[in-house]
Amino acid sequence: MNQASNKGTAVVTGASTGIGALYAERLAERGYDVILVARNRERLDALAARLTDETGRSFEVVTADLGTTEGVRRVEDILRTDSSITMLVNNAGVGATATLADSDADKMDAMISLNVVALTRLTKAVVPGLIARGTGTIVNISSIVGVYPELLNGVYGGTKAFVLAFTQSLHHELKDKGVTVQAVLPGATSTEFWDIAGTAVEHLPASIVMSASDMVNAALAGLDQGELITIPSLPEQADWNVYEAARQTLAPNLSRDKPAARYGV
Ligand code: NAP
Repeated sequence: MNQASNKGTAVVTGASTGIGALYAERLAERGYDVILVARNRERLDALAARLTDETGRSFEVVTADLGTTEGVRRVEDILRTDSSITMLVNNAGVGATATLADSDADKMDAMISLNVVALTRLTKAVVPGLIARGTGTIVNISSIVGVYPELLNGVYGGTKAFVLAFTQSLHHELKDKGVTVQAVLPGATSTEFWDIAGTAVEHLPASIVMSASDMVNAALAGLDQGELITIPSLPEQADWNVYEAARQTLAPNLSRDKPAARYGV
């Protein structure tokens, strides 16, 4: 039985397996009750039963296909109306490894619906309540392809770049309202993601693949340390700071009344 104090309710999407299931476990250990969202009821029920035994917290299972309007609406309603919610982990997502030319357009469309549209709508649903209550946490699972889209399928990279940019903007909007925001950029993590994406994780060099447990533990440590952007693999935080400083250097000149001289206009 877990003795941690009650931290309210965390909603974790994509909680039936992989990174999301680990988040559910760690957050319960930290004192959250957890609403587990995914499509596979059998897996969600089994996880809820195990974690109830292990942590003594409360778990609610919500089956929803977040690739559909109906599924997203079901979770939006919960996020809007359950005032015990203090945390949202936007984790559900799919990837791909094929080039655009070799990809199925409908699958790319479905990926954007899940990785971008659902994540955006769920965030929009929870934010007003968190602002009103003056507290809360939103964790958005991006990916290192958000800053390095050349690595895998470009639509996948684009969706994760969206998650990163959206999180940076959310932080800007919410930082003075008591709401904490974090984007997590995992590198290759050992989950079923890779089978669904089209390349078995066993085909990757072991030296670049992290366990889901280590990844989530590091991401939560980053959250505890107040990081807006957490890259669990990155040895030197200073390297990210240089990248961010370069972005900030651009800021004063990104919008001007005349084209740059080199265009000769
Ligand atoms: P995973 O093991 O395949 O788990 C994905 C989770 O999302 C499952 O719980 C799945 O549950 C759920 N899901 C998939 N489609 C869904 C839908 N339409 N509606 C609702 N839930 C859905 O993958 P993972 O590695 O844990 O990935 C989690 C997140 O991490 C994703 O956003 C992924 O892009 C990101 N990420 C992963 C890696 C990696 O190398 N693994 C690296 C960087 C970022 P159901 O099938 O039961 O619905």
